Amino acid sequence: MSNYNKVTPEIVEKLMAIAPNRVFVDVDINKDYTHDEMPEYGSYLPEAVVEVTSAEEISAIMKLCNDMNIPVIPRGAGTGLAGASVAKFGGVIISTIKMNKILGYDLENFTVTVQPGVLLNDLAEDCVKRDLLYPPDPGEKFATIGGNVSTNAGGMRAVKYGVTRDYVRAMKVVLPTGEMTSFGSNVAKNSSGYSLINLMVGSEGTLGFITELTLKLIPLPKENISLIVPFEDLDACIEAVPKFFMNKLAPVALEFMDKDIVRMSEKFLEKKDIFPCTDEAGAYLLVTFDGNSLEELEKMTEVASEMLFEAGAIDVFVADTPELKKNTWAARGSFLEAILADTPSLDECDVVVPRNKIASYLKFVNSLEEKYGIRIRSFGHAGDGNLHIYACKDELTDEEWEKKNSAVMDEMYSKAAEIGGQVSGEHGVGHAKMIYLQRSIGDTNIALMEGIKKAFDPNLILNPGKVCDKL
Ligand SMILES: Cc1cc2nc3c(=O)[nH]c(=O)nc-3n(C[C@H](O)[C@H](O)[C@H](O)COP(=O)(O)OP(=O)(O)OC[C@H]3O[C@@H](n4cnc5c(N)ncnc54)[C@H](O)[C@@H]3O)c2cc1C
Repeated sequence: MSNYNKVTPEIVEKLMAIAPNRVFVDVDINKDYTHDEMPEYGSYLPEAVVEVTSAEEISAIMKLCNDMNIPVIPRGAGTGLAGASVAKFGGVIISTIKMNKILGYDLENFTVTVQPGVLLNDLAEDCVKRDLLYPPDPGEKFATIGGNVSTNAGGMRAVKYGVTRDYVRAMKVVLPTGEMTSFGSNVAKNSSGYSLINLMVGSEGTLGFITELTLKLIPLPKENISLIVPFEDLDACIEAVPKFFMNKLAPVALEFMDKDIVRMSEKFLEKKDIFPCTDEAGAYLLVTFDGNSLEELEKMTEVASEMLFEAGAIDVFVADTPELKKNTWAARGSFLEAILADTPSLDECDVVVPRNKIASYLKFVNSLEEKYGIRIRSFGHAGDGNLHIYACKDELTDEEWEKKNSAVMDEMYSKAAEIGGQVSGEHGVGHAKMIYLQRSIGDTNIALMEGIKKAFDPNLILNPGKVCDKL
């Protein structure tokens, strides 16, 4: 059990002295701070929220809370899906939403330096204006870069360009004691001891508070093309995935989706027939290639089409107008919202499995629908084996839902571990997935994680009850 101290009126006064007019308590706390984008994982009211504007303010608050044994929870935009940014044991949420400046580009080293509260959307647009690309492209564009780094966010372009971790060169950090330090530097390679910067990436705000980031960029590819590929069923669709790589094709995005989810999102967006072959198609692949000339893309499309027809595609459609391309990717981007709009509650499993096991894993997942009488919807990044699987509560009573959902989740995580998968491909562990992480990686590895946590945060005040912290 936790034995943290409460945020007293005296502490609030001290917080106000550090961040005048930016401290919120009681009824002034926006209810959004009680949960992330999965309110299903509980509602936790922080005792105070502070919207900081500098590393110095963060350092002063951390020092105060460390001395007083009060939890501190770093918070970006709160779009997480694992309950990682909530005040599980009360305490002070520090929001980075006002630290949202792009500090500058280094075009000789091809990097950009940002404050942690810059939104992905703002950075992506600013880069494109300069003919640059920040490749990580998670679905939620209004998340912060600090949140993306802290969850090692993935997204649609991971199959070609990798994930957020691959773009983090350097960061400034406030440690839980209030001490300020920096990890990494603006260099292209680094073998200088333990990689503290890589421990921070994906640590979900449990090791230190990121106050500045230097990120790698690449030149913006000049052209891209998207293909919509209907298949009769999901099996044929997924079985085509490894063939892209065997044919030496390097798609930027390679997403799969079954017909139910496609129709749900069309209904949600109130747009009909974005995806063709409504009557025959049971599943689709959505593929993007990029390059620097149209000829290059035409060649890739030719090779891909031949391979896809051989693999059983009903047809291969090129999203050849900006309107169609926009609508298609908007439909893909709205899947989660469409599922949320269609059921009173849901739970999510974000496992990643070896690419060649996706088809058999999904068959297993789909068999659980019948076994437990629970509706399951899935889509995912076929190119990298990261699946988003949703169990829907629908008409089930609370009791039935709890029982069935827990059994379904247990089976899905166990099966993923059995075939060499991992608990989370990109959404993280938070407090909601801790039990599955513990089962999956075992006591020895959890003990190593706990040791790292204690080295950074001896008093365990930073984001307690998350990832490996069993409080
Ligand atoms: C519709 C939708 C689609 C999504 N699609 C994707 C997707 O494709 N890929 C993907 O990976 N995720 C996706 N997500 C999940 C979510 O957007 C990401 O996890 C994102 O990285 C969270 O960023 P945030 O700013 O909202 O962080 P928050 O939710 O506020 O926080 C997430 C974690 O980061 C920590 N944190 C935040 N800022 C800092 C900081 N400065 N220093 C230290 N720790 C910090 C928090 O403590 C918490 O542990 C999606 C979410 C939604 C709602």
